[in-house]
Amino acid sequence: MRPAFKEALRELVAREETPFYAYDQAVIERQAKRLKDAFPEVRFFYAIKANPNPAILALLRERGFGAETVSLGEALKAYQSGFLPAEVVLNGPVKPPGWLKKLKAEGVPTLVLDSEADARRVAEYLPGAEVLIRVNPALAVHTHPHLATGKGESQFGVPPAALERVLEVARAGGLKVRGLHLHLGSSLNSPEDFATGWGLLAELLREFGPFAVADLGGGFGLGLKPQALRPLVRPFFDLVEEVWMEPGRFLVAEAGVLVARAWGVKETKRRYLLLDAGMTLFIRPMLYGVDPMVQPLYESPETGVFDLVGPACESTDVLKRDARLPVPKEGDALAILEAGAYGASMASRYLQTPPPKEFLFDGTNWQRVDG
Ligand code: PLP
Repeated sequence: MRPAFKEALRELVAREETPFYAYDQAVIERQAKRLKDAFPEVRFFYAIKANPNPAILALLRERGFGAETVSLGEALKAYQSGFLPAEVVLNGPVKPPGWLKKLKAEGVPTLVLDSEADARRVAEYLPGAEVLIRVNPALAVHTHPHLATGKGESQFGVPPAALERVLEVARAGGLKVRGLHLHLGSSLNSPEDFATGWGLLAELLREFGPFAVADLGGGFGLGLKPQALRPLVRPFFDLVEEVWMEPGRFLVAEAGVLVARAWGVKETKRRYLLLDAGMTLFIRPMLYGVDPMVQPLYESPETGVFDLVGPACESTDVLKRDARLPVPKEGDALAILEAGAYGASMASRYLQTPPPKEFLFDGTNWQRVDG
C-alpha cells in the first residue's frame, strides 16, 4: 500500500462504516503504464471480470483499453460504460441464443468461439460477425489448479486437432474469422509458461493462417515483469497484423483493499479475530486458497496471532489463518491487501449480503463509486 493511500484510508475509515472496498487510482494508472510501456504495439482489452466497477472501466477506457467480457451482462456493462462493440471481446464456453439475440440488438462484439457448437450458434444468430477461435493448448501451467484454464482437461478452447473443423464451420456459416485466441490461466508468474503457450499459438497461426489477429489472453501474475515477455511478443508481428492481450488482475489487484473492522477476539481450540467481512465479500481465500496479506489501520503495543473469520455461519468463512497482528480494540479496522481483482466482482448475495460499498482515491479525494 502506498503511504499516501494508507493515510487517506485511515481518514476514510474514521468516517465510514465497514466493510468496504477502496481503490487507489494511481496504482491502476501505474500498472496500465507498465503494460503499455512493455508492449506499445499491442491492443489491450481489460478483462472486466477482475473488477467491473464503472469508475475503473472509465479510467481504463480513457487510457485506450478495450473490454474483455465473458457474459451478456458484462458485454452490456461495457457498452453502458462507453465501450463500442468494436472495442469489446466476448469470451466464454457457452453463449446461449438469448445472449446472441440481445447482442444483435445492442451491438455485436468480437466473439471468441470455443467449440463447434458455439461456432454454429454464433453463425446462426449473428451472421457476418467477427470472431476469433480459442485454442486449448493442453498445457499445465504453474498456478492454482482452478486458475489453470489452458490445461488439456479444461473445458475451454478447441483442441488443435479440432481446429480445422471449427474453422470450416465458422467460415461456412459466414463468420469472419479474424484470428486465434489463447488464455493459459491466471496468476502466472513464470515467463516460461508464456513462452511455451505462445509458442504453440504461433505454430497454429502458421499452420492454419494467414490470420489478422493473435489474442494472447491475460493471466499476468503480480510478480511478473511485463518487460520479460517483450521478446516473446515480437515474433507475432511477422504472423499477424494485430496482437491483442486481455489483462485483468495485473491492472487492478494491487490497487484495491477490503477494509473490515474487528469486533472481538474469541477462543475455541483456536484464537479467532471476528471481522465484519468474510466469504460473501471476498471469496478468494476459500475458492483458490489465497492467503491474503493484511495491514492493520490501528496501533497497539501488544501482538497476537489470530485466525481472521467473517460473520457467516460457515466453517469455511476463514480469511486467513495464523495472522500476526497488533491486538485490536473492538472497532479497529484492518485492510486486506491485493483485493482489487476478483474481490468485489465475486461478492455474493449469500446471507442477503448487500453489494459492497466501493471508494476510489484519486490522490486527493475519495469518491463513492459502487458498481
Ligand atoms: N481472458 C480470459 C479468456 C480469461 O478467462 C481471463 C480470466 O479468467 C482473463 C483474460 C483475465 O485473466 P487475469 O485476470 O489473470 O489477467
